Amino acid sequence: MGTILGRGWRLRCPRCGEGRLYPSARRWFVMHERCEACNLKYERDRGYFLGSTYINYGWTGMLLVVLYFGLHFGCGFTNTQLSFPLAAVFIGVPIVMWRHARSIWLAMDCVFDRTGFAEDE
Ligand SMILES: [Zn+2]
Repeated sequence: MGTILGRGWRLRCPRCGEGRLYPSARRWFVMHERCEACNLKYERDRGYFLGSTYINYGWTGMLLVVLYFGLHFGCGFTNTQLSFPLAAVFIGVPIVMWRHARSIWLAMDCVFDRTGFAEDE
């Protein structure tokens, strides 16, 4: 499980760990259709990556809670002072982490449901 999630975090194919999920950093939202090394199809069905939005929402929400409580109660910033920076985090983090959310979603699917991920398929 750790190996597969590590591959996900490194934006690699969860099955072989060799193929890249994304061709380059310039084309941020473009994903390879299949693994270059083992030919695993990444988008397994229409709407497959919808679940990755929950991952992205989850870690963005947790980060906002930690930042808000740390900066408001720990450092004494007012809600007015925090509104713009936290709104920027709320908008920016899902965009920056979009690739990783999809990759982790694919890796979690590989961990919890091996159907279609076996080497001989
Ligand atoms: Zn692969």
